[in-house]
Amino acid sequence: MSNFNWCHGPNCHTKQTQSRVRGSKGNKVLRTIKIKYRQPNNSYWFQHWWNYFCNQSCLMEFVQKHIQGMIALEPRREPLETKINDPYKDTTKYYNQWTIEERT
Ligand SMILES: [Zn+2]
Repeated sequence: MSNFNWCHGPNCHTKQTQSRVRGSKGNKVLRTIKIKYRQPNNSYWFQHWWNYFCNQSCLMEFVQKHIQGMIALEPRREPLETKINDPYKDTTKYYNQWTIEERT
């Protein structure tokens, strides 16, 4: 397995930044950003997508292009629910935040 990925953003190669310029004089191109692969780590959950997209803009352009296919992977036709205890205002917390606890 290679230790890098090409950014999956559908428009990555069209963004006019210095970091994308490649090629010899008179033969320049804007090229998709190469991303160093980092082992996903629990403390940086976002690294999962950082391994495939150079920035959030490229990620969201991919989502915009493929949203119907993504939803088709796991269609949701009914809402999900998590059982909780009755919420209460906790006066020991900053601004008396409401406390919601999952029912065990
Ligand atoms: Zn990109």
